[in-house]
Amino acid sequence: MSSPAGAEENAATPRRLFLALWPGVVERAQIAELAAQAAGRGRLRDANLHLTLAFLGATGAARLAAYQAALAELPMPELDLLLDRYGYWPQSRILWLGSSRTPPELYELVAELHRRLRRCGFEPERRAFQAHITLARRFPGPAPVQPPAVPVRWRSAEVALVESILDRQGARYQVLQRWPGARLADGSME
Ligand code: ATP
Ligand code: MG
Repeated sequence: MSSPAGAEENAATPRRLFLALWPGVVERAQIAELAAQAAGRGRLRDANLHLTLAFLGATGAARLAAYQAALAELPMPELDLLLDRYGYWPQSRILWLGSSRTPPELYELVAELHRRLRRCGFEPERRAFQAHITLARRFPGPAPVQPPAVPVRWRSAEVALVESILDRQGARYQVLQRWPGARLADGSME
């Protein structure tokens, strides 16, 4: 019996997952503009821009169900991020966008995610969390000398569960679920 590529994948196939803040349409366009200014053609695809909160890695169906249950009642702060600085990690050659004043609520959110996921067997990274949006990989460096002329204000009130799918052009991401799914004060979803 023939089937399209990928159709053999079933619940037993682990999926490569991570939790992230996922930009809405407006913020994504603004971040993409800064990526274009800073990295030109070497930048990430616009659709891939995100802020990783926790990398879950290859996750089987039972573990995924446990994570979903653990995150069901997640208390979610309203995060108010000002993306106003570039950074560069020479070892990994990553150019990133971040904030000169990452709000404490974001660190608290990551700690809360770790607490909940650990109960399901998740092992957080040893490195301290550094809030960043990767703009370019294999970037020759250094980071732009000037900070972004127009910083991006990003208010986020949702954690996204994202699957990373490898295709010929690299990783493609698909949002599977969001917590808590609450609407922002202005009534918009993103
Ligand atoms: P590629 O690996 O093909 O270059 P990618 O890094 O964008 O693409 P993934 O490796 O699936 O895609 O990573 C998804 C997200 O999780 C990215 O934000 C990535 O930086 C982060 N990530 C990946 N591996 C780890 C890890 N071992 N520890 C922490 N974060 C990770
Ligand atoms: Mg990777």
